[in-house]
This record gives sequence, C-alpha cells and structure tokens, in this order.
Amino acid sequence: MSEVILELDGLRTYFYTDIGIAKSVDGVSYNIRTGETLGVVGESGCGKSVTALSIMGLIPQPPGKIVEGSIKLGGLELTTLEPDQLRSIRGKRISMIFQEPLTSLNPVYTAGAQIIEALAVHEPNIDPSEARRRAIDMLRKVGIPSPEKRVDEYPHQMSGGMLQRVMIAMSLICGPDLLIADEPTTALDVTIQAQILDLLRRMQEDLGMSILLITHDLGVVAETCDRVVVMYAGKVAEQTDVHRLFERPAHPYTVALFQSLPDVSVAADRLPTIPGMVPSAYEFPSGCRFRDRCAYANEACLSEPPLVEIESGHQVACHHIDRVRADHAGGANG
Ligand code: SF4
Repeated sequence: MSEVILELDGLRTYFYTDIGIAKSVDGVSYNIRTGETLGVVGESGCGKSVTALSIMGLIPQPPGKIVEGSIKLGGLELTTLEPDQLRSIRGKRISMIFQEPLTSLNPVYTAGAQIIEALAVHEPNIDPSEARRRAIDMLRKVGIPSPEKRVDEYPHQMSGGMLQRVMIAMSLICGPDLLIADEPTTALDVTIQAQILDLLRRMQEDLGMSILLITHDLGVVAETCDRVVVMYAGKVAEQTDVHRLFERPAHPYTVALFQSLPDVSVAADRLPTIPGMVPSAYEFPSGCRFRDRCAYANEACLSEPPLVEIESGHQVACHHIDRVRADHAGGANG
C-alpha cells in the first residue's frame, strides 16, 4: 500500500464572530495516500472547503482559528508552522485550484507572467528565459493550443475552460505532492468538464501527485476518485473506497445523496436535493447532526454516533448501520 502523504487528525476549525461560534469543521480525520484521488462530498455548509483552506493555511485569522487537531504533510505538522514556513510549502508542495479561475487570476497580468510568478516564489533565482520556457512548456502540457502565443495573453482573452487550464498550469508548475481541487469543473459546461477531469488525471499520472477533490457531483466522484469522504455538518459521516460507497453505502446521509439523483451514472449539474437543510454551524444540534432529516432516527440518535470501522477501510458514524445496509444491500438505490 502506498504511503500516506496527508493526514488529518481530529481537526477543528472554528470562526468566532459577533453572532457566535461557527464550528465549521468539528473533529475531522482522514488521510490521502500518494498518487490517489480522494473525493470529499457533501452539501454546502458541511465543512468541505473550510477543511481544504485549513490544510492550505488560508483560514482568515481572526475570525477563524484551528482550535484543535493535526494536519501532517509527509509527516510534517502544518498547524504549528510560522506563516513564512507555510508560504514556502504552499504552491510548492500543496497547490489549490478553485471553481472560478477568474477569482485567482489577476486580470492585469498575462497568463505567462502569473505562471512565472508562481514559479519564482519558490525558485527566486531562476533565469527569466528559463522561467518563460517552463511556463510555455506547462501551458502545452495542460493542453493550451499555441502556447508560445497564449503565454502573452490576458485572462479576458481566454474562455472559461482555457482559464481553468491556466489555473492548473499555475498550480502544477512547481510539481506539488498534493493538489486540492475545490469544485474545479462546476462552472464549466459538460464537455469542458470532462476534458478538465481528464487533464487532471493525466497530470496526476505524469507528476505522481495526490488529489483532494471537493465536489457535490457524485458523477465526478464515480469517474475520478479512488476513495471518498462524505461530510455532514462539520464531521465525517462515512468514508470508504468509491466502489463500496456506491455498492454498499452504510450512512443514511450517503444513501439520501444517492437517492436524490435520478441516475447516479449521469453527472448532476446541481447539488442533489434532500428534504430539510444542513443545520447552521452556529448551532449544531446535540446527538446525531443528521437527526432531523434522517428516516432512521430514533431515541438512540439523541447521542452522538462515533465514527467506527465496520470493515477494513470503511468507517461510518451512525447508530443504525445494520438497518441501513439491510435496506440497501443492492446499492444506494436498492
Ligand atoms: Fe440517522 Fe440516527 Fe444514524 Fe444519525 S445516528 S444517521 S439520525 S440513524
């Protein structure tokens, strides 16, 4: 089995605001192995992106704070690093791409200048002509046609799919160990989406990196991920390999995510709809946080279910796993 590159253990990231404490990430543990793609799924407000920003060291402080837990990258504890130490890791060992590339690209600089800047942060003495050559080479690798010309173009001269490719080129120019992709294809049409996912797969093979893919789209998960973490209300509800998740889900929330899709083999444009809402991070209920939306809830669910391993590599936090599995023995829609 390949080694673990990233390890989260009991991570809690809270936001201290005028209206109270938002416990956005509230005791999350998972790991990512070298070369694998880990999908993190769940509705908005489940803590997926706050977990990713915690890993990147990009939680605005204040009001945010990692109050507990550990984030280890290749054995190195990140939560205790100084800001400049974190900066030297960001971009070089961990990179991140976002749903909307325009929020990360500067409109007044060319694509090439921005890729070169990302490179120069970690290789300050690089020769300018060598930096330009590497930027063009990376643009070619991410499938930008005529990269020698495109390198001097500005973001407004490019399509959404092209911008996402530039973003990927920027994030991979230093050859990171881990790429965090937060809904990287949500803003793109289906054909471009497939091309970008294919590109990420190819780049992963080329560079041997791991990918943490945050998505609400179970179609993307099925196509792309090796393992999956299902998050609900700041906690891990279930985690296992992708095949088992689709064939034998054991948490009512996972089942509900699947059942709200008309056909899980078809990528959904929007988040599946489950009756009710994710509770506010300011006032999570006691006991199981999924209680108000769960068809299996009973008195036992007034106490918080621990995350337990029900078989090798499959962890679930629910008091009624046996009932859920008996009802869905043939898969999530069974
Ligand atoms: Fe539903 Fe109870 Fe399981 Fe929570 S612990 S998911 S409320 S059955």
